[in-house]
This record gives sequence, structure tokens and C-alpha cells, in this order.
Amino acid sequence: MKNIICETERLSCEDLQVVVLMGGLGSRLKEQTVSCPKPLVPIHGTPFFEYELNLLLQIGFKKFVFLVGYRANMIEEYFGDGSRYGKDISIRYSYDGEKLLGTGGAVIRALPFLEEDFMLVYADSFMDVDYFQIMYRYFAGRQTGIKALMTVMENADRFDKSNVVFKDGEIKVYDKKNIVSEMTFIDYGIEIFSREVFAALEKSFGEEAVDLSDIQRELVEKKKCTACEVTHRFYEIGTPESLAEFTEYAKKRFLEPHGVCFLDRDGVINEIAFNEDTEQLDSPLSVSQFQFLPDAVEGLKRLYESGMELFIVTNQPAAAKGKTALSELYDINTFMLKELRKEGIEIAEVSVCPHHPAGSGRAKERFLIRACNCRKPGAGLILNIMKKHRIDPACSYMIGDSYTDMLAGRAAGVKLAFTGDFKCDVCGRLEYTKPDIIGKNLLEAAEKIVC
Ligand SMILES: [Mg+2]
Repeated sequence: MKNIICETERLSCEDLQVVVLMGGLGSRLKEQTVSCPKPLVPIHGTPFFEYELNLLLQIGFKKFVFLVGYRANMIEEYFGDGSRYGKDISIRYSYDGEKLLGTGGAVIRALPFLEEDFMLVYADSFMDVDYFQIMYRYFAGRQTGIKALMTVMENADRFDKSNVVFKDGEIKVYDKKNIVSEMTFIDYGIEIFSREVFAALEKSFGEEAVDLSDIQRELVEKKKCTACEVTHRFYEIGTPESLAEFTEYAKKRFLEPHGVCFLDRDGVINEIAFNEDTEQLDSPLSVSQFQFLPDAVEGLKRLYESGMELFIVTNQPAAAKGKTALSELYDINTFMLKELRKEGIEIAEVSVCPHHPAGSGRAKERFLIRACNCRKPGAGLILNIMKKHRIDPACSYMIGDSYTDMLAGRAAGVKLAFTGDFKCDVCGRLEYTKPDIIGKNLLEAAEKIVC
């Protein structure tokens, strides 16, 4: 087991400052940006960046610094000091000034505002990923002298030129200028930095603009930059085509009420594994133990091809119980998502509850031992997703193989689909929760849902 002890008190979205690069001229979006800067380009009446801001606020981030340049006054006028988003939300502004500073230069200029560690995002991207995982991996790396984290995504030139060689969980090469064929990943656009990286550059920063990618390349070369692999695509508005694409996506996601499926993972999608330590059946504790159940992929395909968005909501308390590390549990989900993508199935989100109220004395990651509202039978995982999408509960399902899944679904107000050969101790309880659908496996349940 990897020995990762996190700086637990720092693993909170509330405490991590978010720095947003907003100074770009948006020159490729000529028509839209003549009168308004890119972050304010309206999409269905809402400025583009407000979609990402709302997402970050829902996740729990509270402290923002906007790095502004082009038409800064319009941006500041719209977003204000943050108080209209909540009484404890703050937005501060760092102005690029007359000269073009480059992305790295804009961060150096913002040093007086920056806290010891901060997350950096771009105002022209919409990125709905697991921010907690990103934070966890950064602070785990901090224990070993890491100064930065870069999110990377397997790309193979799907979205832009690939620029990262990523192997065995490590960034081997990052270079935006010298592209080589081994580069199959791309830098995703979410970074976490230690402030000292930029403080060290302040003295030498002068007339020349500084590109952030040059700073990152050096950090990778010095092995000071860790990585978090993300699997969900990003949306951006850099070109008229990508603007049109996000406009269509936002319509479906935020404006049109739609039915979705929430799925439990273990026992529904994958086999329960045999744990040699405890000699009991358990959730898989490493990628090598993960195996799809027969017909599960086919079942997911039926649901996905029917047009339903798929969300996996899963309790994973093994790290809180000291059986493995949280990083291993995240790796399993990344593996699963990539395997499903090969089958043409995109999972919209995997939402994990890593907590356990009692935990175990063996647990190294003690911050996971706590009561929470996300652990099923609580409905927190489902409700958090519902806050981020315009979901119609009356047309949505919770699909699970346990009584707690049914209770979570019921608490969230969605329909219930039970899968598996339920044992008699569960039968009586199911009588109480009354699933709308019962199938012997995911495929059978899926067929009943889409018919
Ligand atoms: Mg289960």
C-alpha cells in the first residue's frame, strides 16, 4: 500500500484559493469579443464563466482571485466582490496593466494576493471534474516536496495537440513547443501551485512576457510536478465552433429537464472481490482486482445509447478502514471509465463517498474517518449531482443491489431499480422501499428501464 499521509486540515475546498486567468483578448472570437471580454460572452443569457464559477461554488470553493486585463472594468462590474454569490464568497482582482505579461507573468503580478497554495483555472474553460481528487493528489505530493500539480487527459489529438508524455502515473515530458509522437496526453487546464514557485521568479521578471507552460515544463524536468489524470472532456470557447458546441451542451445540461441514471458500482457494474486479508468478499482494493460483471457493460450500453446520462454514486470506505489508500480507489475508477470509453460509453461522473464514520485504527488517511452526508443511504451524492444538472427526478432511476442504494434513491425522490438475486433478508426490506424495477442483473434492469 502506498504510504500517503495527507495534510488533512488543508483538504478543504473552502480553504483553497482559486486563481482564474481572465486577461486574454479572445481574438479568435472576434465578433463576440469586440464589445465584451471572453468570460462574459453570453450563453443562454448567462456569461460563460458564470457556469464554471457556479460549479466551483457548488463544490465549496469560496476564495477567488481574478487575473484581469482586457476590459477588466466590465468583468469587475459584473462579478463584483463576490458577495452576491454568498456572504462568505470573496472575489479579488489583480490587474495585468498596459503591458502583455503572458499567463505566467499575470500570476507573478498577482503575488500580493496569493496564498501558500492555490488552484489555477482558465476563464474560457468549463471543467466538471473531481476537484477533491485533484486537491488530494496535490497535498499528498506536497509531503514529498512536490510544488505543483498538473491535470492531464488522454487526448490523442482529439481536442488540441497532445503535449504530455504520461506513464505510470507520472508526467515524463511536458512541452508545448517540441511535440513528439509519445505525447498522447494533454494538459487539461487545472493546476495547483505552491506560491513559492512564482515568488522565486519575481526578481527576474521584467520586460519579457512569461508563459505559464515554460514554468510548468521546468517543474516537470525537476520532478517537482505531480499529476492527476482526468477522464472527462472539457468545454471551452476559444473558437466559434467550440462556442457553438458549449451552447448546445449547456442547453441540454442546464435548461432542459431530463431523466438520468444513478448507479451503484460494486455488485452492479463490477464483481465483488475476495479480500485475502479479511477473508471476506469486499469492494476491489486495486485496479488488478477490478472486473466487470457479465452483462454489466452491455447494460450500461443500453442505458447510454437510449440517451440517458449515467452517474455512478459509490461508497468506498476502504481507505477510511485502512485497507488501501484513497489514491488506489481513485485509480480503479479512472481505469473503469477508460475501459467503458473503449466500449463507447461515457459516464458523466463518478461521485465517491470515501468516508466512514467509525473507520479503523489501521487507517493512515485519518481525514476520511468522519460522519458525512454523502455516504449512502444518505442522498448526498445524488443531490450534489442534481444541483449541477437540470435533472427530472420523476424520469430518473437509482440502480443498486443493496437496501442502502434503494434508501438513497428514495430520499432523492428518484425511481428505484434493484439488481441481483436478492437474499431473503433483503426481501422484507425491499417490500418497504418498493423498487419500481427488479432485474436479475444490470442488463435486465436496463432493458426494463429503456423499454
Ligand atoms: Mg453494491
